[in-house]
Amino acid sequence: MPLHETKKAGTGDLDTDVFASPLSGQVLPKLRMPEEHSPAEVVYSLLHNELLLDGNAAQNLATFCTTWSEDEVHRLMDECLDKNMIDKDEYPQTAEIEARCVSILADLWHAPPGAATGCSTTGSSEAAMLGGLALKWRWRARRRAEGKPADRPNLVCGPVQVCWEKFARYFDVELRQVPLEPGATGLGPHQLAAHVDENTIGVVAILGVTYTCVYEPVAELAAALDRIQAEHGWDVPLHVDAASGGFVAPFLQPDEVWDFRLPRVVSVNASGHKYGLAPLGVGWIVWRSAEHLPEELVFRVDYLGGDMPTFALNFSRPGGEVIAQYYLFLRLGRAGYRRVQQTCADTARHLAAQIAGMGPFTLLHDGHGALPAVCWTLTDPDGAGFSLYDLSDRLRMRGWQVPSYPLPPDRAQTVVQRVLVRHGVTRDQTALLADDVRRALEHFKAVPVPPSPVSASRSGFHH
Ligand SMILES: *Cc1c(COP(=O)(O)O)cnc(C)c1O
Repeated sequence: MPLHETKKAGTGDLDTDVFASPLSGQVLPKLRMPEEHSPAEVVYSLLHNELLLDGNAAQNLATFCTTWSEDEVHRLMDECLDKNMIDKDEYPQTAEIEARCVSILADLWHAPPGAATGCSTTGSSEAAMLGGLALKWRWRARRRAEGKPADRPNLVCGPVQVCWEKFARYFDVELRQVPLEPGATGLGPHQLAAHVDENTIGVVAILGVTYTCVYEPVAELAAALDRIQAEHGWDVPLHVDAASGGFVAPFLQPDEVWDFRLPRVVSVNASGHKYGLAPLGVGWIVWRSAEHLPEELVFRVDYLGGDMPTFALNFSRPGGEVIAQYYLFLRLGRAGYRRVQQTCADTARHLAAQIAGMGPFTLLHDGHGALPAVCWTLTDPDGAGFSLYDLSDRLRMRGWQVPSYPLPPDRAQTVVQRVLVRHGVTRDQTALLADDVRRALEHFKAVPVPPSPVSASRSGFHH
């Protein structure tokens, strides 16, 4: 006789074991919602296991986005799960914190004190749409005031991220993507004159080109536009897509003049969830002053008792990412951001030195002077005995996700490989990666890969 009674053993008890439950004995429904409910813990565990197939974010060296957050960020995100960013009347403090973040960024990017305006977005893509729309509206108003046609707007840029192609297509603007010159990684100031005209709504300069992670020379592009204005009278504004660089340059390259210090820069976007260190789902756009954001684009919704100005492509959106962004500003301060980004940059340089020393690679970006990242190509693609796609596949066997992809169309014959060193990617980790690259090179030496027409389609990667 036991001293105390235990729970009766039976089928009920078996149900409490996740992997002995009826649901775990089935393939999960994929096309039709099941008729009956299931225990939370069982469903959670099954989904948790399925998600392991995604690979782990810590070894994803392809992404610019935050893959590590402090516990406090997780807690704040959890506490803000029910806060809707759009309900500025119901969650006035979340709205207030969004405004503080805009002010902090305007200050960080040297906007004239008190004049700037801006908002949070879901990321740089939405911010780019808003920035592009403001440029288009301003250009159209100017043309109409001059009694000139305003039906053929164009936007001039270099090798932009796909969001600008989307903007151009969705909002009916001709995208004039200036071809990359041989050896170049971005838009050159001397190239502008051949592409800018009276119908140019703006030029986009990129601080941290997605392909190679270098900065385009924003100040020189601005100077070229000054010369174009002096010659033709066209006052073409500059928008800086600082998706990554907006949170790196102020800390690592404070003397690089790319922001509102240049009078021609009217707006800047950045991704809070990239080097801004916030969790996924937040971007920012700041305009130099309210006059650069046409009133017609701002909706003053009389909603649930409040009159709230909004400029956004969507309506409901979570508020947690914005709170987390403010947390990070307070938690790290300028010195903290500097230290985090400097650590990443040092790690990137260390990795770059190792890659350079291995033999077959030529660096395109070594982590100096731009984003904490490394980008390289094969010095002799035809004689190497393997392609970068083969190397990506080989590294994938160890869990590393290191993308290989061709440069934009005009330099598409150059295939590059790129590693983003983000907060949480450590020196030790990159040393292990370098060892794995060396081992892969030895493997290719012993077992050369025959050149294959399918190579180019492997390890696809989208920016
Ligand atoms: C990532 C990126 C974007 C898109 O930003 P999201 O925050 O992912 O929407 C736009 N431009 C550049 C230069 C980028 O690196």
